[in-house]
Amino acid sequence: MEFKHLKLIDPILKAIEEKGYENPTKIQGEAIPKILKRKDVLGIAQTGTGKTAAFAIPIIQLIYRIDVRKGETSSLRALIVTPTRELAIQIDENIRDYNKYTGLTHTVIFGGVKQGAQVTELKKGVQILVATPGRLLDLINQGFISLDDIKIFVLDEADRMLDMGFIHDIRKLIAILPKKRQTLFFSATMPDNIIDLSKKMLTEPERVEVARKSSVVQTISQYVYYTNKPEKTKLLGHILRDIKEEQVLVFARTKHGADRLVRNLKRFKLKAEAIHGNKSQNRRQQTLKNFKAEKTKILVATDIAARGIDISGLKYVINYDVPNVPETYVHRIGRSGRAGEEGIAISISEPEENAYIKDIEKLTKNKLTRINDHPYPQTDRPMTATEKKEWNKEKQRKKQEFLQRRRKR
Ligand code: AMP
Repeated sequence: MEFKHLKLIDPILKAIEEKGYENPTKIQGEAIPKILKRKDVLGIAQTGTGKTAAFAIPIIQLIYRIDVRKGETSSLRALIVTPTRELAIQIDENIRDYNKYTGLTHTVIFGGVKQGAQVTELKKGVQILVATPGRLLDLINQGFISLDDIKIFVLDEADRMLDMGFIHDIRKLIAILPKKRQTLFFSATMPDNIIDLSKKMLTEPERVEVARKSSVVQTISQYVYYTNKPEKTKLLGHILRDIKEEQVLVFARTKHGADRLVRNLKRFKLKAEAIHGNKSQNRRQQTLKNFKAEKTKILVATDIAARGIDISGLKYVINYDVPNVPETYVHRIGRSGRAGEEGIAISISEPEENAYIKDIEKLTKNKLTRINDHPYPQTDRPMTATEKKEWNKEKQRKKQEFLQRRRKR
């Protein structure tokens, strides 16, 4: 199938061509015609499947049709709500590209920064608004946003939204949205609470399903290195040196772990930057910009921060910490091999994590290729005195961290 078979208008086809997309992805091929027919859509798809364009492109076309005849450019017609700031910014950037020749007005709002510049944009009037839930409700309450003219509402990454505790915000939002509207609901997974929420929001939806949570994109080669905990960073350094000219996204379990890893990699003369929720919005944007511009080749991320990262052509994902929830593994490695490109996913497993590898293999029904030929193989040998000291220190530090967090609460 080609984009021109999707009944898209010329200015959009031209913008897509400039973006370099040759053919629609599966979700695009299925969702775009349904959305153009004004149907509600329940989309089950992960990031990396092309789902942003699957909703953004038909939204632009529908609003263009509604408003262009009237010369209207300032009524808010479409609202897209997504859980993280990075995702919001990326969706808005995509809209900017697809909208290049349709000229609709659009903007993005998110928390963690002063509201002034966002309010100024909103006051000019926008037709498409991308928002994170907290800032959206805040600005609605302050009277800067009215939802009365909304024709299309998108809830993106619904499962992650609930994981992040936004359910009350979503409920409030549903209560003030116009009852007569088109709703597009996207989620990577469909646990019971998401099914319930979708039923409340959608009317006779058409279902579009791409990859189930357990399926990994075919083009990603997956490897595992077994090693010991004290040698993990050295092994990571060894792997990174091997692939030195390529961009790599490295996953760490915690924010502190991510920062520590960046510091330790420095000792191996490897320049990395960390991205996670403790960094300011500006820092996160700058880090991401450095990575996209390939000023930094190694980006260390936590799961939540990585959720919003879109780097096209990213080849390598490394699990420095193996996730204990196998679905998280699927999400993580979905960051590579995007839209049909080749990807490589490497996991570094310490003895405690060997069982997680088994869970992953069970869920994905795929055996990871084991790399035995490396300098730090996993052994059952007891720890050396230094390793034990380091391990004890780490345990103490974790305990302190835990106590500190408890005190804060
Ligand atoms: P998404 O799932 O929306 O995060 O998109 C994943 C990546 O695929 C983004 O970098 C998009 O720019 C890219 N992409 C989306 N649609 C296509 C397409 N039809 N052909 C090639 N790349 C695409």
